[in-house]
Amino acid sequence: MGFSTLNLNQNLIKAITQQGYQEPTPIQLEAIPAILNQQDVMAGAQTGTGKTAAFALPILHQLASAPERQGKLRALVLTPTRELAQQVAKSFESYGQYCDLTMTIAYGGISIKNQVDALKAGVDILVATPGRLLDHLVKGTISLDDIEHLVFDEADRMLDMGFIIDIKRILKRMPEQRQTMLFSATFDDAIFNLSKTLLNDPILIEVNDRNTAASQVQQTIYCVDSDRKRELTSYLIGSRNWQQVLIFTRTKQGCDALAKEMCKDGIKTQSIHGDKSQGARERALSEFKEGKIRALVATDVAARGIDIDQLQYVINYELPYIAEDYIHRIGRTGRAGSSGIAISLLSSEENYLLEAVESVLDTRIAQEWIPGFEPDLNKVFDNKNNSNSAQKKRANDRAFGGNNKSRRRR
Ligand code: AMP
Repeated sequence: MGFSTLNLNQNLIKAITQQGYQEPTPIQLEAIPAILNQQDVMAGAQTGTGKTAAFALPILHQLASAPERQGKLRALVLTPTRELAQQVAKSFESYGQYCDLTMTIAYGGISIKNQVDALKAGVDILVATPGRLLDHLVKGTISLDDIEHLVFDEADRMLDMGFIIDIKRILKRMPEQRQTMLFSATFDDAIFNLSKTLLNDPILIEVNDRNTAASQVQQTIYCVDSDRKRELTSYLIGSRNWQQVLIFTRTKQGCDALAKEMCKDGIKTQSIHGDKSQGARERALSEFKEGKIRALVATDVAARGIDIDQLQYVINYELPYIAEDYIHRIGRTGRAGSSGIAISLLSSEENYLLEAVESVLDTRIAQEWIPGFEPDLNKVFDNKNNSNSAQKKRANDRAFGGNNKSRRRR
């Protein structure tokens, strides 16, 4: 079923046709008619499903249908990170290129002056992070009195990042009579509680089972000792000739250290995390997209919202402390129908983190060893505080007997 059945205006159809979109994705098929119908929406959609167009297209359609209100700030999209804000703004710009609407973006880390000038000139759509939006509200450089459409994009992450107080303050400054849309990759009690205060009789849309990873991503775990992870990472990338690999670490220091070591291994790598300037993050990201660097090491927060067409490989150098982050991480690949590979490097200390991930996914992920990088079972058992040597020997035989290929454990 093509886009023509969705009753979107011709300027939007022209823009998305130019983007090469032929069919609406499942979330677009469900969300666009509901949003055009002025309903509130609560959508469980992970990144890569086409969720941005699912809210951007019907919002643009509604704004373009009321030219007499042009120049009033009528649509606000809140995102947890600058990168996602940029991504969403870019989508609005490209989908809305033939509509006579203006938009701007407001996030921290860059000068507020240009944003103030843009807002003064009058805009229809604003994409913002909560902190910077509050700065504008406090300074009086923005008014939310005319907001008709409000979107929370990646609401789960906004709550994880502690934005709830900011969100409540922002909500007080906008009309109660409005359309509200909440998009979240994962759902827990905090999201449901937020949704109750935000949404009015919402339509619930779920395109994938909640809390499941994108089905087109092939997930594998390589068991390895933590002190050999860097070597294994470089080996995988080099021996399999992977290009454009996004690697996740838990800490900013770990992120920098890994990127440095991988450069020494001959793999052009850069790191992005919250301590890097906005300019440095943007430069690293565009070099990665252009293929000038082969690997990008990122922390969870910095990587949010990164949208790279055809990104095929994600490596979880360390498993995340928050199990839901695993879903966000692997959602960077396998986007909009393309296939992806997500590798997690698991040291024995991380077994409890894997259990949490598997419980959120409600599935088990195959574990393998790469020959030459087999974990030292003495360490594994030391970690488990188990000194039973017969058990060790049985496990050793199971793990390392047989041929020389990588081996499945489950
Ligand atoms: P999102 O989930 O919004 O981050 O979108 C993921 C990717 O899917 C982006 O690169 C979009 O350009 C692309 N996309 C969105 N909708 C469609 C569609 N109907 N057909 C093909 N690609 C799409």
